[in-house]
Amino acid sequence: MWTKLQNTARKKPPRQVAVIDPEACFGAYACSICQAACPVENCIVEAKDANGRWVCAVLIDKCIGCGLCVTIGNPTAPGKRDFGCPADYDAIDMVTYTDVVDAVAADLGSEASEPEAEPASA
Ligand code: SF4
Ligand code: SF4
Repeated sequence: MWTKLQNTARKKPPRQVAVIDPEACFGAYACSICQAACPVENCIVEAKDANGRWVCAVLIDKCIGCGLCVTIGNPTAPGKRDFGCPADYDAIDMVTYTDVVDAVAADLGSEASEPEAEPASA
């Protein structure tokens, strides 16, 4: 499935969205099988992880929850697929949409509430 099928905005959020564990991801550009499997244009993007390594990441406002990117055999995916993230990495899980939104909001909240560095004293 190398052709992107959908490039219009989804009508409503899905029950679950795909979440990629950056530590388990082999690496964007080097693998990118998930991007080939995903039917939504620009849904899985390349992003730097906390260590500056390029990995794949899912944009939760684009994911339609189809599960086509998930490793065959991973029980979180909703349906059949021809291929997905390689079993050696199994870096993608389907997660309840509202849990992902809450986790992202908590992350943003903790970033916003982190104390600013003290100015260097003269
Ligand atoms: S679940 Fe479907 S839409 Fe979402 S990232 Fe995976 S392949 Fe793309
Ligand atoms: S298929 Fe899996 S290992 Fe490969 S880039 Fe995507 S998330 Fe990473």
